[in-house]
Amino acid sequence: MKQNLLGLDAEGLARFFEAQGEKPFRARQVLRWIHQLGEADLAKMSDLSKALRDKLAMTSCVAAPQIVGDEAAVDGTRKWLVKVDGANAVESVFIPETSRATLCVSSQAGCVLDCSFCATGKQGFNRNLSAAEIVGQLWLANKLLGVERRTDRIISNVVFMGMGEPMLNLDNVIPALRLMLDDNAYGLSRRRVTVSTSGVIPGMDRLREECPVALALSLHAPNDKLRDELVPVNRKYPLRELMAACKRYLEKAPRDFITFEYVMLEGVNDSEALAHEAAALARELRCKYNLIPFNPFSQSDYRRSSPERIRRFAEILQRAGLTVTTRKTRGDGIAAACGQLAGDVADRTRRSRRLQLKEARA
Ligand code: SAH
Ligand code: SF4
Repeated sequence: MKQNLLGLDAEGLARFFEAQGEKPFRARQVLRWIHQLGEADLAKMSDLSKALRDKLAMTSCVAAPQIVGDEAAVDGTRKWLVKVDGANAVESVFIPETSRATLCVSSQAGCVLDCSFCATGKQGFNRNLSAAEIVGQLWLANKLLGVERRTDRIISNVVFMGMGEPMLNLDNVIPALRLMLDDNAYGLSRRRVTVSTSGVIPGMDRLREECPVALALSLHAPNDKLRDELVPVNRKYPLRELMAACKRYLEKAPRDFITFEYVMLEGVNDSEALAHEAAALARELRCKYNLIPFNPFSQSDYRRSSPERIRRFAEILQRAGLTVTTRKTRGDGIAAACGQLAGDVADRTRRSRRLQLKEARA
């Protein structure tokens, strides 16, 4: 089978070229072609000798996953359905704002952790994405947005808040992260790439050692009793241990803070008493709260907290001296908001059929 060069980071590419009896500095040239210029055709990489290009064509390829759905919301949010194989598709979401534009990527097809309020969790776990499939979402987004030189950084931020738990797929997430940070590829700063986790401690410790980008922790509850219910992985990695892991992480990411994500569920985790508990928990480390109004989906009975309750919760945290943001709901109408990325089979086939029809008509 041909080696897909899309998912190889600088080190991986250098090793690949060495194994072919070539100079490792070829890696830099090829990185720039693939990631900065978006070139997938090895024959067009004109600063490589013709002989090398011919050889590469025999042994390797640049293969991105396939886009089978492309929807835009009125606020400029775009959601792409990315087919990774015959049975699986994941979603990536592009969110433009005034001073930045963020791409939200998926790291797994499905998720094994089954948080009670998450559509991805409800679909179960299918498989890990490869590094090529993860960085391929950024590669494709740039292409679809018509970005000519990726060094322009039209996409200024990447968040791993799509489908899946990134800490359970670090073998592939880490090379993808390295490409996002590499100056010969996307050149994003470490603080503009955020990995979100439900709290898988061994993964947090590994990421801290290997690639300490910005970290978001899906907290959702300030005590173990409630968190066990909402985020079942808490039974394995309870809050005490989790806070200690966050502190360890910050040692490797000085001047950084952890973002605590907190989905606002009416009558479940949004009381004033819990806000005080959440404030007390946060006193232990450098962190910010990001309140996420719950995004409903069909198999869920939860309701979104009212704006008034969210405001009150935020106020209690702020009075305790914490920085709090409340996430604006984006991508309404195309189910592109956090936790709505389910890509269930029925939906997927319906959508790809719609796309085929569109193509047939064009
Ligand atoms: N598995 C990782 C990353 C993907 S989920 C994690 O859990 O952190 C990205 C974020 O969306 C998490 O904070 C998650 O808790 C949140 N989320 C999941 N379902 C949601 C929903 N229905 N409404 C709002 N946010 C949700
Ligand atoms: Fe998985 Fe994150 Fe959804 Fe929980 S919230 S089920 S960890 S994707």
